[in-house]
Amino acid sequence: MYLRRFSVILFILLIAGFAFGQSKSRPSDKFKQLSDDELPTPNEQRAASGAPGNKYWQNRADYVIDVEIDDVNQRLIGKETITYKNFSPDTLTYLWVQIDQNIHAKDSDANTTQTAPNLEGGQLPGAPRGVSVEQLDRLVNRDYDGKVNITSVRDAAGKPLRNTLNKTMLRIDLPTPLAPGGTFVFSIDWDYAINNNRVYGGRAGYEFFPRDGNYLYEMAQWFPRMAAYYDVYGWQNKQFLGSGEFTLEFGDYTVRITAPNDHVVTATGVLQNSKDVLKPEWISRLKQAETAKEPIKIITQAEAIANETNKPTGKKTWAFKGDNVRDFAFATSRKFIWDAQGHNVGGNKVMAMSLYPMEGNPLWEKYSTHAIIHTLNVYSRYSFVYPYPVAISVNGPVGGMEYPMICFNGPRPQPDGTYSANTKYGLISVIIHEVGHNYFPMIVNSDERQWTWMDEGLNTYLQFLAEQEWEKDYPSRRGEPQNIADYMASENQVPIMTNSESVLQFGANAYGKPATALNILRETVMGRELFDHAFKTYSERWKFKRPTPADFFRTMEDASAVDLDWFFRGWFYTTDHVDLSIENVRLYQPSTRNPETEKGLLRKQDNERPKTLSQQRNESLPKRIDQYPSLRDYYNDFDEFAVTEKDRADYQAFLATLSEKEKQLLNSNYYFYTVDVKNLGGLVMPLIFMVEYTDGTSEQIRIPAEIWRYNNFDVSKLIVTKKEAKAIVLDPNLETGDTDLSNNFFPRRTIPTRFQVFKGGGAVRR
Ligand SMILES: [Zn+2]
Repeated sequence: MYLRRFSVILFILLIAGFAFGQSKSRPSDKFKQLSDDELPTPNEQRAASGAPGNKYWQNRADYVIDVEIDDVNQRLIGKETITYKNFSPDTLTYLWVQIDQNIHAKDSDANTTQTAPNLEGGQLPGAPRGVSVEQLDRLVNRDYDGKVNITSVRDAAGKPLRNTLNKTMLRIDLPTPLAPGGTFVFSIDWDYAINNNRVYGGRAGYEFFPRDGNYLYEMAQWFPRMAAYYDVYGWQNKQFLGSGEFTLEFGDYTVRITAPNDHVVTATGVLQNSKDVLKPEWISRLKQAETAKEPIKIITQAEAIANETNKPTGKKTWAFKGDNVRDFAFATSRKFIWDAQGHNVGGNKVMAMSLYPMEGNPLWEKYSTHAIIHTLNVYSRYSFVYPYPVAISVNGPVGGMEYPMICFNGPRPQPDGTYSANTKYGLISVIIHEVGHNYFPMIVNSDERQWTWMDEGLNTYLQFLAEQEWEKDYPSRRGEPQNIADYMASENQVPIMTNSESVLQFGANAYGKPATALNILRETVMGRELFDHAFKTYSERWKFKRPTPADFFRTMEDASAVDLDWFFRGWFYTTDHVDLSIENVRLYQPSTRNPETEKGLLRKQDNERPKTLSQQRNESLPKRIDQYPSLRDYYNDFDEFAVTEKDRADYQAFLATLSEKEKQLLNSNYYFYTVDVKNLGGLVMPLIFMVEYTDGTSEQIRIPAEIWRYNNFDVSKLIVTKKEAKAIVLDPNLETGDTDLSNNFFPRRTIPTRFQVFKGGGAVRR
């Protein structure tokens, strides 16, 4: 750092007039309030505060369903009656119903719009191009067609209803228009071939176990579901392509599931006919589990393995009731081990349960139910108390997928029971994540077909908090700001505010980035107290309702009095990243005006000025004026740093104008560091400096992002200290996701890297 002395000017007002001298081409204003371009105008359904408006409404659908699983042919056969209530102010002439299973039709848009895999290369070791054997099989031998047969659509009187299928959407024309406040009851019968999830993927399906010849079914999107009709988009009937998930209405479900009589069935809701379907010992073990301190086995591994060799002697029907849910899923198999533990979450008694085949052990019996209860505890603290009577985690072919009260999670140990750290933490994390989805979007019912981040981002944020409360330094994949830095700097990305089906780098965009943004809001921008209150307010305001992004953005500000428009614009509406650089640090100290001190300093600086190469080489050359001393005059001997009588007199005259306090101030020896910071990434962020002093101590200085409000590109911050600084570090706690840490140090630091040395070789062959 180079020391400069500055003069203390008594006429400070002079500065003010020039400080904001702007050119006409002003850089874009990152602190401009979000306006019509970004957010819809508030209205009676959605208030400017971000709360539901005084005329908020949503429609409702209640279901009574009878469904059978044909375990011989892997088919699902169902009939349902939907009671649809129109609470909108609009008269409806048709209804839209989602037939999401049609994504597995051979000619579905999801299949036909697949872009080509990279078939080039892939022949050298390490080159990952080409296709897997499974992909190849799918490409050449696809014989599976999962298209739904809709065999009947009729009204309450049994009269057929005119209907039109458009791929994954079914329009039902109403015999008479459905007025506001009206109810329409209708029924649909259908059946379809269930997808082998291991071959055709998807969010549901069956798994076949060659070892014992059994099937395990995880069933979801299995029944025709009402599309949502709401104030922002009308009917949300955008086709299901696979990424944009579901937009659904709340309702009560009565579902009777018929399966082979040696199957164990688990589902959204509470079992209504335990005595008909459970063995007496299972019922008493369940009773015991209600107050147990650890998970209790309802079906042990030995019992499940014995059951694997069974042959069914008939069918059994399991009746479930799930109230106030937006969807219904179930799982069935004769392979299930079942454990359970009752738990009181904020006054609500919940039965946490896990069902898994023996292939899931020893991991599942050790972690699954604990992970469920842990999730309910943490999430309920940061949002609202879990309102449902059961929370279930099932192991099967689906890697991780959420439904009300029940979720499907894939990780399993190796066949010999050993497992890697990745598998263990992958399992705990996915269970936390999928159970966590009960809050977002199963209860805070965002429109998933439009916005993936509204449930995945918020859920991944809370997942991070829950993981960090599971064990110290839990290896969370997402949440810590530095984990998102590489993505933020990457090419080929789109803003978070992009429709679900068009999102690039899906996991980083819709899960990692919003989760990290919320974590940064909480830790760095707002502080935990303000953030937690605002987040809870949003969760409470919108539980069992359907929020949009504007409702979230507005509530976060409304409940905290923190202007966050700049943050939401930067993080959610752009692909800018954080890269702030300390370009320079300049040290200034006020001149004491004392000529003894000041001229001494000037002399020292003059002495320290380096000699040029010519000066150094010319030093020893004989000089003419040494040969002829008479050539010397006054200027040859003049000492420009000598203190004169006039200097002393001027100084005394200056001192006479100062009070004692002012004199002390002048000699107080403060250090004035001007830190010049450049914004290279585009995102404006708070400045967090750590100043390291020469005495070995250090200090952190936190400056809100508003320091950028006049200029988004360059700011200078003055740091006044009593001690001399030896270094200044930007973002010392790695809390902003800065993509290039090498420019965060002044002076710059060398970051050591080890490189490999190997023997032999020569030219590298490619
Ligand atoms: Zn998710």
